[in-house]
Amino acid sequence: MPMSRRVVVIGANAAGVEAASAARKRDRAAEITLVAQENTAGYSRCGLPFVLGGQIPNFTDLIVYQPAYFQMLKLNLRLETRATAINTKEKTVTVVTKEGSTEILPYDSLVISTGADSFTPPIKGREKSGVLSLRGIEDGEKIDAAVKTGAKTAVIMGAGLIGLELGVALMERGLQVTIVEMLPQILPQLLDADMAKLVMEHLQEKGMRILLSKPVEEFVGEDKVTAIMAAGEKIEADLFISAFGVRANTKLAADSGIPLGETRAIKTNMRMETDVKDVYAVGDCAEAPNIITHRATCAQLGTIAVREGKVAGANAGGDYSQFTGVLASAVTRLFEVEAGATGISETAATRNRIEVITGTISSKTKADYYPTAKPIKVKLIVEKESQRIIGAQIIGGEEVTQRINALSFAIQKQMTVRELAKADTAYAPPLCETWEPMVLAAEMVLMKLR
Ligand SMILES: Cc1cc2nc3c(=O)[nH]c(=O)nc-3n(C[C@H](O)[C@H](O)[C@H](O)COP(=O)(O)OP(=O)(O)OC[C@H]3O[C@@H](n4cnc5c(N)ncnc54)[C@H](O)[C@@H]3O)c2cc1C
Repeated sequence: MPMSRRVVVIGANAAGVEAASAARKRDRAAEITLVAQENTAGYSRCGLPFVLGGQIPNFTDLIVYQPAYFQMLKLNLRLETRATAINTKEKTVTVVTKEGSTEILPYDSLVISTGADSFTPPIKGREKSGVLSLRGIEDGEKIDAAVKTGAKTAVIMGAGLIGLELGVALMERGLQVTIVEMLPQILPQLLDADMAKLVMEHLQEKGMRILLSKPVEEFVGEDKVTAIMAAGEKIEADLFISAFGVRANTKLAADSGIPLGETRAIKTNMRMETDVKDVYAVGDCAEAPNIITHRATCAQLGTIAVREGKVAGANAGGDYSQFTGVLASAVTRLFEVEAGATGISETAATRNRIEVITGTISSKTKADYYPTAKPIKVKLIVEKESQRIIGAQIIGGEEVTQRINALSFAIQKQMTVRELAKADTAYAPPLCETWEPMVLAAEMVLMKLR
């Protein structure tokens, strides 16, 4: 009787659990082992700000995959076990268990889903204690403890999605929050400056202090940070959060000779396989091509992590599956404003030398006369030559996500702006305007093209 296939997955979160589950669906007899250094697997990092904000009661509520799930799918989950080396010739992974013993795990297929870690740039005083970040449950617990022990003010360094979601959460807990951002706009990865400005105005109306174009230069304090210096200004606070960004965990792969790509994340092909046969890499530690630019990107989103995990898991389980690429569709809600984007921004298009025409319109989420109608603004980014939609951004009081999803489908199907302008959309006064805002934005672009 042939020996059953051995699949080893390193990292058991969004990408890893998805990969293991997909491998199980393809091969019912495979021996599938998940190696996880944390003491909790399969939980949602995306929910962390909402536990801190008080919308979700406990951090344990974020566990999406309970132990019973792993048992049901016969996935051998090894918690508090760290992979320390991969031998791609012998096809083995060395792991160190909770008790400190070393084991060698042989594999036929290996999936690396080691994720990413919060990153603080080499700022003067970085070695001092007291700067927290938000990546895992333990980080969340530390921030929660700081709030419970009386922190009244917080400085968050970085105005990306995590920094702002956390900023809102801390304000909901009664703290005064200052956001310090090096660039001249908030949400620089997600939105163009014109759209980001609307979100910023809403946050400022709610009382968030936002300092733009202020690089953090120093962490001030004896052993513990008590203030930061940003563009010459000293800002004191009770709580300091580093939300500069995340860095792919690639050391294990790189030390094993698995090549990294141009973004310094692990290089992969369309099957999420690395340059080494039978070794796959997925999620926040891996690269994948952007659908518009065809260049390697590392979007570091949960949505991308699960899609890549599914593809790699199927391949690791003996099937053939390809990843479509990344549009990096993302949404967030900050107080009463929703913001979302898909495809590439105008700024990114310019950076990639793609000539674009944009169209932006302001409308309502329901018939204008309907009492609870909320404002919504749609920006479309269209490639001039092909007239194809290549990006979209929406800011509004509600209904942003499904519109971003619709535009993501449109971009994936290479829809032109002319086709979108003729889309057969639905209407009823309590649900939408007669003319769907996405269609109005398309007409705006057509007018400019004429
Ligand atoms: C606060 C916050 C909010 C977010 N909100 C959103 C959102 O709204 N929408 C969205 O799409 N995305 C969001 N994200 C991003 C999303 O959480 C990540 O993209 C996703 O977690 C990536 O999954 P992953 O499995 O690739 O990596 P991870 O979740 O980082 O998991 C990797 C795991 O591998 C383990 N590991 C690493 N090295 C080893 C080793 N050598 N041995 C054993 N184990 C190892 C790590 O400990 C970790 O548990 C958010 C992230 C954060 C932090």
